[in-house]
Amino acid sequence: MANSAVTMDKLVALCKARGIIFAGSEIYGGMGNTWDYGPVGVEIKNNIKRAWWKRFVYENDNSFGLDAAILMNSRVWEASGHTTSFSDPKMDCKSCKTRHRADNLIEAHSKGSVNPDTMSNEEMENYIREHRVKCPVCGNFDWTNIRTFNLMFETSRGVTDESQNKIYLRPETAQGEFVNFLNVQRTTRAKVPFGIAQIGKAFRNEITPGNFIFRTIEFEQMEHQFFCKAGTDEMYYREYKEKAMQFLLDLGFAPEHLRFHDHDKLAHYARAACDIQYLYPMGWQELNGIHNRTDFDLTRHQEYSGKSLTYVDPVSGERYIPYVIEYSIGADRLMLAVLSEAYEEETLEGGDVRSVLHFHPAIAAYKAAVLPLQKNLAPQAKELLAKLKKRFAVIYDEAGSIGKRYRRQDEIGTPFCITVDFDTLENGTVTVRDRDTMEQIRLHADEVAAFLAEKCVF
Ligand code: ATP
Repeated sequence: MANSAVTMDKLVALCKARGIIFAGSEIYGGMGNTWDYGPVGVEIKNNIKRAWWKRFVYENDNSFGLDAAILMNSRVWEASGHTTSFSDPKMDCKSCKTRHRADNLIEAHSKGSVNPDTMSNEEMENYIREHRVKCPVCGNFDWTNIRTFNLMFETSRGVTDESQNKIYLRPETAQGEFVNFLNVQRTTRAKVPFGIAQIGKAFRNEITPGNFIFRTIEFEQMEHQFFCKAGTDEMYYREYKEKAMQFLLDLGFAPEHLRFHDHDKLAHYARAACDIQYLYPMGWQELNGIHNRTDFDLTRHQEYSGKSLTYVDPVSGERYIPYVIEYSIGADRLMLAVLSEAYEEETLEGGDVRSVLHFHPAIAAYKAAVLPLQKNLAPQAKELLAKLKKRFAVIYDEAGSIGKRYRRQDEIGTPFCITVDFDTLENGTVTVRDRDTMEQIRLHADEVAAFLAEKCVF
């Protein structure tokens, strides 16, 4: 794995050229910070979600999936505290009229040596004034005071204007898991400790979106809420920190590109919180969060809904509201990390440079490309393609020289190229080229499916 060559511009250009990610609503001039996943990108993102689901639902003891509605009763967001406190400290530059987050300004100005998480709004204003922190867009020092800005998108529900009610696009998926805690527990007969996992869209009216798909206003979260008894929470918090890190290492991230970042300032309900940061092209940034949320969420929903969310232990009869360990990772943010970790510009013997995405075969859009050496071998190649398609996402390409076709597959990270050549007609064998080593082996065409199955498992 290498990410030293990658810049954000190179990634954006590659993603556009190869059908991975396009700017949203492009033909209308775009719609700021929205992105559309193309034919290759949707496969990669689905594979990322599948790998996560496999690890945190199927392979995780006592863990269950959920797909809750995006639109929820507005009382949910009152109970969770989002209507009153889901906000960022924003400042406007009076000269160029751009909007900024005060905490980000301080972090950038101090090059990370000052942690704004521990500061009040007043302290942040003082810091910015004392250090004459300038607007990163126009270079002037002409700020408004800090105002807080709620990040939830509002919409309304109702058939007539009079009956319209304000509702919100969910800013996180977690509340769906909390409000369904007892539904899942009863229907699965799960005993605490157990987990509920969900993958779904979330929406935030971010003040400073940007850095490609790193911070967008519409994104997907993969969240796992683990319900446990008070007293065991610290142990499970540590366990989920390790599980979250191990998942990334197993995807192929270099350990030196990942680090834990413990939070100094905790939300009032949290007992502990940390991020895993990744060394993105723009520097170290949060990739995922792990939080010990105590019994705050279930207690609040019990209070606001008037419905009991108390768990009754079937053996001891003990009644309690469980604590929650939350592990939350953005699918898009992980995709950006996966792409930047996998990208390499490799200088080959003879001086040619190839761009290649070295990601885990399970993440690749296509597990293999089937290539007839010449067009007249197409019938044999298509016969193999049809067999492989029953089990894998595979692609066919007969256009251009074989070298060019290999390069195209390298650029989208296809781990294996299967070439049908004249020996195939003689003895039924094909060549299998490895994306990373570029070495080739010969296999019988009937062995290819088993080979791919073994190589592509996550
Ligand atoms: P940040 O500090 O970067 O705004 P956060 O601490 O608000 O993130 P959480 O609310 O903990 O993030 O959300 C969990 C995860 O969801 C994050 O770790 C990130 O992977 C993802 N995420 C959050 N906001 C966005 C966004 N605007 N765009 C893309 N992914 C996001």
